[in-house]
Amino acid sequence: MNNGKVVVLSGPSGGGKGTVVKALLELMPEMALSVSATTRQPRAGEVDGREYHFIAKEDFENMIANGEVLEYTSYCDNYYGTPKKPAVEATEQGRDFFLEIEVDGALQIKKRYPEAVLIMLIPPSLSELESRLRQRGTESEEVIAKRLKRAAEEIEFAEKYDYIVVNETGKIEECAERIRSIISAEKNRYCAMKETADNFTSR
Ligand code: 5GP
Repeated sequence: MNNGKVVVLSGPSGGGKGTVVKALLELMPEMALSVSATTRQPRAGEVDGREYHFIAKEDFENMIANGEVLEYTSYCDNYYGTPKKPAVEATEQGRDFFLEIEVDGALQIKKRYPEAVLIMLIPPSLSELESRLRQRGTESEEVIAKRLKRAAEEIEFAEKYDYIVVNETGKIEECAERIRSIISAEKNRYCAMKETADNFTSR
């Protein structure tokens, strides 16, 4: 079966994931991007259905109860989760499915899809991350402190990931290109290409 590849990108909040994902989608426009559901409030400029499906806590809990999420987590006092239907549809159509989620969810995805590739995007250092979070100017000091603590905890999970990519300041395109190479290499692994190779020997 020619199912699409499930690709998970994680990394601390403020580490530039959003910008890298945008650059990656320009390189790989055929890839399907997961739009998560969340109970957090939209930030300025965020559009419902584009960055996230912004929903009430009660609705999120209903989605969980009805088995409509592939994975979910509670992150800094809000729920975040991946709606199941778009993922199933994309992979069945042979499209790659890309999720930008935190570590707890990433590990749930790996359990469900063992061939999923987990990539962690990390900033050059924690102090660089702190200054990026401050520059963004969208979070209070309290939230910044929570996110920095969580960032350090997340990076401890790096060993569970297949690849680590450092997001060097000002090198977004290079970073996206590296992720594209990883996805491309994953598709050429023996286990992914076995059927093609076997065609030569099964006659
Ligand atoms: P933010 O509030 O900055 O948009 O996202 C906070 C964190 O939640 C980020 O690390 C982001 O990757 C993660 N996240 C976003 N959507 C999901 C999701 O559907 N599931 C999980 N587990 N994490 C998510």
